[in-house]
Amino acid sequence: MLLKRLEISGFKSFAKAVSLEFPTRITAIVGPNGSGKSNIADAIRWVLGEQSFKHLRGKKGEDLIFGGGGEESSASRKVARLSKASASLVFDNKKKVFPVEFEEITMSRRVYRDGINDYVLNDSQVRLKDIIELLSKVGLGASQHHIIAQGDSDRILYASPKERKSMVEEALGLKIFELKKTEAERKLAATEENIKQVESLRREIGPHLKYLASQAEKMKNAAEIRKNLAELSVGYVSREKKTLEREAGEIENTKGPIEKKMQIMEKEIREGEAMLGGGNEAKNFFDELKRLDSAHDAISHKRIEFEKEAVRLEVAPAKSAGASNNMLAKDRVKSVLMELASNLESASRSGTMEAVRNAIFETTQKIYSFLESINGENHAAGKPDTASALNRSKEAISALANEEKEILAKKLELQKEYETRARNLQKEGAALRVKMEELAKTKEELRSFAAREEKTDALKKELELDFSELLREAKSAGDIFTGLERADMRKKIERLRIRLEEAGGVDESVLKEHDETKKRDEFLSKELDDLKKTAGSLKDIFDELADRVEKDFETGLAKINVLFREFFREIFGGGSAEIKMSKPEKPKADELEENWQEEIAEEPGLEINVDIPRKRIRSLNMLSGGERALTSIALLFAMSTVNPPPFLVLDETDAALDEANSAKYASMLRELGKKTQLIVVTHNRETMKAADVLYGVTMGSDGISKLLSIKFEEAEGVLAKVR
Ligand code: ATP
Repeated sequence: MLLKRLEISGFKSFAKAVSLEFPTRITAIVGPNGSGKSNIADAIRWVLGEQSFKHLRGKKGEDLIFGGGGEESSASRKVARLSKASASLVFDNKKKVFPVEFEEITMSRRVYRDGINDYVLNDSQVRLKDIIELLSKVGLGASQHHIIAQGDSDRILYASPKERKSMVEEALGLKIFELKKTEAERKLAATEENIKQVESLRREIGPHLKYLASQAEKMKNAAEIRKNLAELSVGYVSREKKTLEREAGEIENTKGPIEKKMQIMEKEIREGEAMLGGGNEAKNFFDELKRLDSAHDAISHKRIEFEKEAVRLEVAPAKSAGASNNMLAKDRVKSVLMELASNLESASRSGTMEAVRNAIFETTQKIYSFLESINGENHAAGKPDTASALNRSKEAISALANEEKEILAKKLELQKEYETRARNLQKEGAALRVKMEELAKTKEELRSFAAREEKTDALKKELELDFSELLREAKSAGDIFTGLERADMRKKIERLRIRLEEAGGVDESVLKEHDETKKRDEFLSKELDDLKKTAGSLKDIFDELADRVEKDFETGLAKINVLFREFFREIFGGGSAEIKMSKPEKPKADELEENWQEEIAEEPGLEINVDIPRKRIRSLNMLSGGERALTSIALLFAMSTVNPPPFLVLDETDAALDEANSAKYASMLRELGKKTQLIVVTHNRETMKAADVLYGVTMGSDGISKLLSIKFEEAEGVLAKVR
């Protein structure tokens, strides 16, 4: 037995604390009208968290508190109203029906005149929510379908198909899944809303992110170019440095010896020129030659004089003066002219103007001297001592001839020497010319070095200008440049420089923003994934629950139907009854007036069809009060049998039954009692008979309900009180 006890104090007519023990399967509460029996059912409903004042038969919380009783005039004293009402249900939890560790659970509710409610669970104050949650775990849902209020048993017949369906779901214990379904649906909607929001956020930042990404890409590109450029430049500068150093070294090494060679050559040429004497040699030679010639001429002249003298001395005695004079004159003229001719020829041969002038001068002198000698001869003829004079002349002639010979030999020697010398000079001049040519070539060579140096200097300056910063740290390394390598490399560097300029600068703030925006987008994307996953699993949960609810509902409904039909046939002695899903068809025009048909058409739900034996029943409305009660009871018992609630409170459900049906009801009650704990409020003898424990409720003139535990036999008496 789950329900152990109900304790009430100050609740409605129960001003004084009473305790109802429920030790058996069926407990009946009996008593006269208005004694407070239904207040007991109300108290149970209230403790279980009922919020509807309508169901509690009041308008506000205050109505639930004992409001005072008795009359001033009557025998009994007037009883004052109370300030609070309380009720507690004690559950046996040894079997851990409630999923908590306690073996006994006391659930209490209190209300004060100000309307404040307290909920207490085993001495701890809790929230209503906690109570509802705990109860829902044992199939005591908020709809409280297990407490059938007075006159409410046929509610299921009047209810709309949709409400009916909900009631059956509740009875089948599917409400908890329905709630979960609704919860999943609510969560799904919230998740989908979140998805929409996140998607909208992503859409918002999308274009900006795209822009930032392109900027960042550009900057990354620029950074890459810069890196390449730096690498290439370092390589270039170090190679160029090495190349230029090598070139300078080479020029220095090669140029030095050439310069030295040139200096030597210049010295040699200077010396050679000095040796060739600048033309003095020839002058000296000709001066000497002239001197020899003059000397020769003078001697020759003297000799000719002596020869003339000798001739004159030899021929003087024999000849006639005239004839010999003529003869003499002829030879002498011949010899003088010969001499003159010879002089002039040699002057002409010498080739110099000076020699010619000298020759002319001497010739003129000789002509005068000859003319003078011709005049003097006429005076000398006929002198004595001719022989000795002749000898002297001859001696003189011979001496002079020898002298002449010597001079001529000297002259010849001089000429020879000069010619040899001239030949040598010519040779040396040629060698000098060769040397000078060579010098010119060497100078040319050096000039080419200057060009190389100039080029190297220019390259160096260019390097300093273009790579001043790099140059400071660069080492001279790498292969030296050959061929077009330098130009190629420079071209590459230039191209990279242009590309870098085109790529623009790097803005760290843009990069940072890109990074942040990207991270945010990634975060949103991840969140979106998570949300979609959540949505997916919620959908799965929802589908699973829907599936389960549908299946359980179907099988449960089928079971209910079997029992419904069985109970119905038992009660009515035949016929048939069924509860089934209505088809959401559009109602026919002529049926539109009928409410229940409209309801069927409005919402899919459960419809009830009954067929009472020997009667043509087309609608539930056509049933009598008793028939309605019986049909409801059949359905209620069928539902409670298929999925028995932990306990069931039936408040005068049997009120409308005649004696025959009361007996059937009682037997059904006994059957149901095997499945669930029953608390029945009744005036019915048959029902009372079925109960194991009976409580009598009475109310005196003080308006306070009193409770007494009675035997069946006593029950009659309790009931008789009012009769
Ligand atoms: P019946 O057999 O006619 O259904 P019952 O035994 O079920 O009657 P209840 O409806 O439980 O009777 O009790 C009604 C009684 O409780 C009334 O007399 C009413 O005056 C009394 N009552 C209801 N609320 C209060 C209250 N707040 N204070 C005092 N008495 C109250």
